[in-house]
Amino acid sequence: MPNTLFSLEGRTALVTGSSRGLGRAIAKGLAEAGASVILNGIDKPRCESAALEMAEEGLAARALPFDVADEASVVSAFRQMDGQSIEVDILVNNAGIQLRKPIVELSAQEWQTVIDTNLTSAFLVGREAAKRMLPRRRGKVVNIGSLMSGLGRATVAPYTAAKGGIKLLTQAMAAEWAAEGIQVNAIGPGYMITDMNQALIDNPQFNDWVKTRAPARRWGKPEELVGAAVFLASSASDYVNGQIIYVDGGMSAVL
Ligand code: NDP
Repeated sequence: MPNTLFSLEGRTALVTGSSRGLGRAIAKGLAEAGASVILNGIDKPRCESAALEMAEEGLAARALPFDVADEASVVSAFRQMDGQSIEVDILVNNAGIQLRKPIVELSAQEWQTVIDTNLTSAFLVGREAAKRMLPRRRGKVVNIGSLMSGLGRATVAPYTAAKGGIKLLTQAMAAEWAAEGIQVNAIGPGYMITDMNQALIDNPQFNDWVKTRAPARRWGKPEELVGAAVFLASSASDYVNGQIIYVDGGMSAVL
């Protein structure tokens, strides 16, 4: 008999920020595990072409571009799904941005934009998803934190504050919804090869630092998050609540 523990057949997954990078790899992995996936991003053409490419590979994928940091945009996206009788069983709060600047050079607006896109977004999208999951007493929420969920580093203050917040928001959501059949957990990626890190990858000094400090001695590949994502999205994790799984080549163990 096939092992169905990790199967996502019959489930619908919304992955925010999945037009590229880690979100796209996660969405593809969830689709390959059987889920019907909804891709999101803020750039409509990029989001639509990502969904089209996945659909051309025979995977069940559609695009739903909206701004995760804007309450009206999030509410309207969920109303649109309601109108099409789309029920989100799995939510991956992945969309995020990075900004590298010393604290004394940061404007309040820059601070707010990073917090809104990386942290408030998980509250807004999580709230709308949970309103619909709670009556069904079933659902999985996977928040994408970071290595920075557990430590602060120079020049990324609002990002670190947001990702630390993601870890505790995950615990708060898990505490509130566990008894209602909704499991909320997080993944903490280390240094991964995506557009977000291109400047760091191109910087020989930083590139070498990652390769020296990570016990795995290399950068991570986006598809290396799929195992943790499928586990946390599937019934294999039905008694796992409020945890963060670091997928970071061992970096969080030594930094
Ligand atoms: P990328 O920059 O490669 O991709 C970011 C994604 O988020 C894109 O799909 C982008 O959409 C989307 N996005 C950004 N802002 C919004 C918004 N306001 N509304 C909707 N979508 C938005 O980033 P990564 O794939 O590297 O990062 C994904 C997540 O993983 C982030 O939360 C990041 O903080 C986290 N992370 C990344 C690590 C890494 O090493 N790369 C390490 C640890 C955590 P669009 O294409 O339209 O711009």
